[in-house]
Amino acid sequence: MNRKYRKTVIAGNWKMNMTLSETKAFAETLKPMLGKHKWCDVVLCVPYVDIPAAIRLFKDTRVVIGAQNLHFESNGAYTGEISAEMLKEIGVKYVIIGHSERRQYYNETDVTVNKKVHAALETGLKPIICVGETLEQRELGGTMEYISYQVKCALAGVASDQMRRIIIAYEPIWAIGTGKTATAEQAEEVCENIRTVIRKLHGARVARSVTIQYGGSMNAKNAYELLAQLDVDGGLIGGASLKPAELMEIINAANQE
Ligand code: PEP
Repeated sequence: MNRKYRKTVIAGNWKMNMTLSETKAFAETLKPMLGKHKWCDVVLCVPYVDIPAAIRLFKDTRVVIGAQNLHFESNGAYTGEISAEMLKEIGVKYVIIGHSERRQYYNETDVTVNKKVHAALETGLKPIICVGETLEQRELGGTMEYISYQVKCALAGVASDQMRRIIIAYEPIWAIGTGKTATAEQAEEVCENIRTVIRKLHGARVARSVTIQYGGSMNAKNAYELLAQLDVDGGLIGGASLKPAELMEIINAANQE
């Protein structure tokens, strides 16, 4: 991380976990541990139905609430969907876009990811854009090309002055929910490559200001080393973000010079 130029952001992705009562219990446990954590922003991307309660519960803290998806249209006949405007109006600040589980199970494509990025930006939400390769792609030596392609597609049409509001999360698919973490070197190599792609698109000044996270089985044990990498500016954390004490350890691991 390099806090001189960009924000460190620790974001939890709760996925389809946590009922309302579990959300309340989580907040009651985490809040007394929080302190000021001025060194990083903390975001909890919770299920839609937990959002209003989570916003209320964390109101007097520096934790902000995000969503895990949105629709790219602002309204209309899209049964079961939620728009950027709906999220914005209830106080959501961030939204995960293009998580590999959505790409895999819900036909999310690079085209819909790009449309969602624009919908989020136009509404004032901050997108956390997920990119990541499969194990097969890594073993074939195609990681950098594939990630560069995903980043370019996601950012198509995004203006340089919008880039400061974007977070890119590098999440190798083989590391998500598997307990297999990328090594710090692998994470840094890809995050650095993502910054190079942004530099080519928007110049060095913009590239150095964009927060790039690593995600994939990040936990209390491996967080410090991953976050010590120059181009790893935070984490997108699934399983470990469901446990307040472990999440707090990861937040503390981001307190590095
Ligand atoms: C994720 O869901 O984005 C994720 C990284 O999950 P986990 O930390 O459980 O691997």
